[in-house]
Amino acid sequence: MVSQPDGPPVEIPGSEKPRNGSGRIISGDSQPGDVNLDVSLRPRQLDDFVGQDQVKDNLRIGIQAARLRGEALDHVIIYGPPGLGKTTLAHIIANELGVNIKVTSGPAIERAGDMAAILTGLQPGDLLFIDEIHRLNRAVEEVLYSAVEDFFLSWMVGKGLAARSINLRISPFTLVGATTRFSLISSPMRDRFGSVFRLDYYNQPEMEVVTRRSAAILEFDVEEEGVSAIASRARGTPRIANRLLKRSRDYALVEADNRLTGKVARAALDLLRVDRLGLDESDHRLLSSIIDKFDGGPVGLDTLSSSLSEDSDTVMEVWEPYLLQLGFLQRTGRGRVATRLAYEYMGRTLPVLEARPDQGRFAGL
Ligand code: ADP
Repeated sequence: MVSQPDGPPVEIPGSEKPRNGSGRIISGDSQPGDVNLDVSLRPRQLDDFVGQDQVKDNLRIGIQAARLRGEALDHVIIYGPPGLGKTTLAHIIANELGVNIKVTSGPAIERAGDMAAILTGLQPGDLLFIDEIHRLNRAVEEVLYSAVEDFFLSWMVGKGLAARSINLRISPFTLVGATTRFSLISSPMRDRFGSVFRLDYYNQPEMEVVTRRSAAILEFDVEEEGVSAIASRARGTPRIANRLLKRSRDYALVEADNRLTGKVARAALDLLRVDRLGLDESDHRLLSSIIDKFDGGPVGLDTLSSSLSEDSDTVMEVWEPYLLQLGFLQRTGRGRVATRLAYEYMGRTLPVLEARPDQGRFAGL
């Protein structure tokens, strides 16, 4: 039997969304100013969740089947870049199942005992959401294995002669794990999930629906051209659209009668230094660095990152994905390469390469 929700989502202490501190207006990561906005604009039902049709169709079936059988839904993993709706979907799944959700994150659970305490506190059918699940440490992960498989807990407490194992039956529950780095989830962990869903960047029409929906909730008067300007600069990421919308709303209030026309939106976004494709100064810096300092590449990630004074994980996880998506950047075995599209966008002339077989830099572009 699934339990009926008896309260708001429970945020387990210390489980705030992890941030990598990039602080860029066009970063998909959650930033301090986003928390309230994320919650107030978050769709509550699958029907309100824009796009990602295949994921929604599969979830709809799984949720309905679980309800009909009166059983917990199979464990689910959702992966994709930040800001695309992983947390939102976890809340929607709980809502549609009619169960409570408990929210935590990989880095917040430090010890096996902490994991055991969370698991023993679950009610039948509850949904446990673990954000950044790839960051669980090994000892914590091992407690989770038998819990997700057989709803059974087995872990060691104490050391040496005083060591003893504790075995406990726990309530059937659904684990929803979210990650930006699917490849870092250990394979024993991966094998324990019944469904794996990948979220993709949203296309322009979908981004316009997200923007229009958020503007309506904020009771912000936005013309179609304004919607389209925000949508096209939000890097296919709903969280960024919401953030740009909020900043444009301030601009429109101060400068333009509280109404967002196309012209006002473009002026607001130019002021935020977000260009027509949603690139900011950091993106421009990365591209011009590869083109001007490293002759278009290939340049290794570490060399590139130190030339940008940024750590390589942040460059790889935050800076590069959208540039790869736009086709401005390629990751090759020998390093990063700026493509012909990047040269054109940055207004640089493409170098004429000598026909050397080891330099297939622009091959196929
Ligand atoms: P993630 O967990 O992937 O970082 P979130 O689920 O926190 O992203 O989404 C950030 C915000 O973007 C949400 O609060 C919500 O307002 C908005 N959002 C995300 N996906 C959608 C969607 N498909 N439709 C409408 N809004 C969305």
